[in-house]
Amino acid sequence: VRRLRITILQQAVWRGRNTGLPMPLAAGYLKAAVEAVPELAAELEVTIRSLRGTESASAILQALADPAPPDMLACSVLGWNYRLFGHISTTYRQMNPEGWIVWGGNHVSGQAERVGREFPSVDVVVQGEGEESVVELARAFVSRRSPRDLQGLAGIAFRDETNAWVDTGRRTRIDDLDRIPSPFLTGSLGIVPRAGGFPYEAAILETNRGCPYSCAFCYWGGAIGQKVRSFSRARLEAEIELLARSGCESIMLCDANFGMLPEDEGFLELCIRARERFGAPRHISTSFAKQKGRRFFGIVRRMKEAGLHSSFNLALQTLTEPALDEMKRRNMRINEWEDLAGWLHDEGMDVYGELIWGCPGDTYADFLAGYDRLAERIPRIATYPLLILPNTGYDERRDELGLVTWKTDAHDFEFVLQHASMPLVDNVRMHRFLFWSRVLAEHSLLRSIWKPLREMTEITQSQVLLKLDAWVDRQPDPIVSGLRSCRDASVDALDIGTEYIERGLQYLFLSERLFDRLLAWWEEEILPHVPPSLRTVAGDLLRYDLVTLPIYDPTERAERCSLPMEVVGDRAYYVRRGVKFECDITSALRRRVWSPCVDALPCCAPTQVDIYYLAGFCSDMALYHNAQNVRYFGRIGRPDPSGTTGDRLDA
Ligand code: SF4
Repeated sequence: VRRLRITILQQAVWRGRNTGLPMPLAAGYLKAAVEAVPELAAELEVTIRSLRGTESASAILQALADPAPPDMLACSVLGWNYRLFGHISTTYRQMNPEGWIVWGGNHVSGQAERVGREFPSVDVVVQGEGEESVVELARAFVSRRSPRDLQGLAGIAFRDETNAWVDTGRRTRIDDLDRIPSPFLTGSLGIVPRAGGFPYEAAILETNRGCPYSCAFCYWGGAIGQKVRSFSRARLEAEIELLARSGCESIMLCDANFGMLPEDEGFLELCIRARERFGAPRHISTSFAKQKGRRFFGIVRRMKEAGLHSSFNLALQTLTEPALDEMKRRNMRINEWEDLAGWLHDEGMDVYGELIWGCPGDTYADFLAGYDRLAERIPRIATYPLLILPNTGYDERRDELGLVTWKTDAHDFEFVLQHASMPLVDNVRMHRFLFWSRVLAEHSLLRSIWKPLREMTEITQSQVLLKLDAWVDRQPDPIVSGLRSCRDASVDALDIGTEYIERGLQYLFLSERLFDRLLAWWEEEILPHVPPSLRTVAGDLLRYDLVTLPIYDPTERAERCSLPMEVVGDRAYYVRRGVKFECDITSALRRRVWSPCVDALPCCAPTQVDIYYLAGFCSDMALYHNAQNVRYFGRIGRPDPSGTTGDRLDA
């Protein structure tokens, strides 16, 4: 007898084109949960299709139809794939009129009526945590029950015979997370020690679920609930060992508050031990706890001692008090996060800040003032426009907050057009700023200039970016026009999402002729504000930022880049030799003091340096993920063979 076939679709938010697949963790949980039940495993064949975000709907449908459409199509739905999966579901219904279509995920939980209105082919929406509901659904499926008759199954909404939605209510949350079979240890995600290398770009891993806060913009504050539950240490230990033995270099933790629980220290030790034994992992990215106590500082220091690289995200979201009130969020006090940022910088951590533009209570002027205050400590700031997500506090209070929103046909994100403190005209001009701040500052294309400029001049970071914005508007040449078109596309769309960032980054990474034009902007617009005695070094700083941009090498074939390669430790680097600067750029960057008395310091002699660039800057995750690209910036001099520490000299 043929086993029934279930296909689970999961699509990453990153658009990966050249390297490993995005890890479909949510789908892996579901597959592991179903396959852990022997009678279901005997009757079902569960396949995961991990999508990079670049596949066309027709390519996905062709894969679904090969060799025959599955008996059940399950979709892990988020805002970025809602419409795509809706269209896929509509066509799948025609391919297999008897097949089940099951959707799940935070974005559609509690949204069955709307889902059904927009995509009538969807049979079932799973609400909340899906692992146990999916097992019950699978039992009903193999018993040949109708998807119109699923009374008695908790945690779902389904259409009955009259086409009305029946909500069976939320399932109690899973208190003992170890009840969920591990998608790693069960083989659901196909991770095998050293079998041809790690199959994904990075491992996505949860050590716990839940968050004690209730930020009004966030799914976790609304849909997921408050109590934090952890996976056991024994399970995490086995998972980390498997990942390390499989050559997994990067782990991305989904935890909302890493460093909040005592178990987090133990988890870190597991990673360090694995790294010592198997050489992996090398990088851990996560969202650290909002309140930083003794444990947090210990964790950061331990990571550093162990050579475990991480990026630290100071997610303040806004520094405007009325906006924080509306958001139901309290940040650390200003002096605390300023001290923290300084400490992390001194510890050599990659730090970036995070702000959300357009929150109720914020204004154009207040947002830029907050941006500049944060930039004084952390120039790399991710600036996202506010999206109103289903199942969040803002969603529930939209009328009270006077939100005017809009959507595109491409995805299901609801943008905010205007509200009481944000007139439309301010939103439009802020999108000009957001383009430059995201492309140039957040992705660190400009990075060494910020601190010196603050000390040498009165110009703030936002003013530098806005000066560039105005200068770009005045340039008639085609090279700068190309950059202007990238910005205009984003502003016209009132969207600074991935496709607009990608376009700007690609243009900058691939248009070396643009560098001369940017140096011209610097000379015309910025250097006149710099004391004359410092203009030479200030000029070199921008030159340094531009010449150390990563070598974009999509195919990893040496002929794509004419620079010679050198292997240091187990890593390959492109080397640009004899790069000339008008001052001693190494000393200037190491000194980190930028005052007019710089004349007395030994940086005024012209120098030549060799710059090493880690090869492999071709994965889109590295390209577009602001915490990943930092590894690929050029470094002066030969790097440390261990590859764990660097001598990047950004000020
Ligand atoms: S934004 Fe972070 S702290 Fe706030 S509710 Fe969401 S996960 Fe929790």
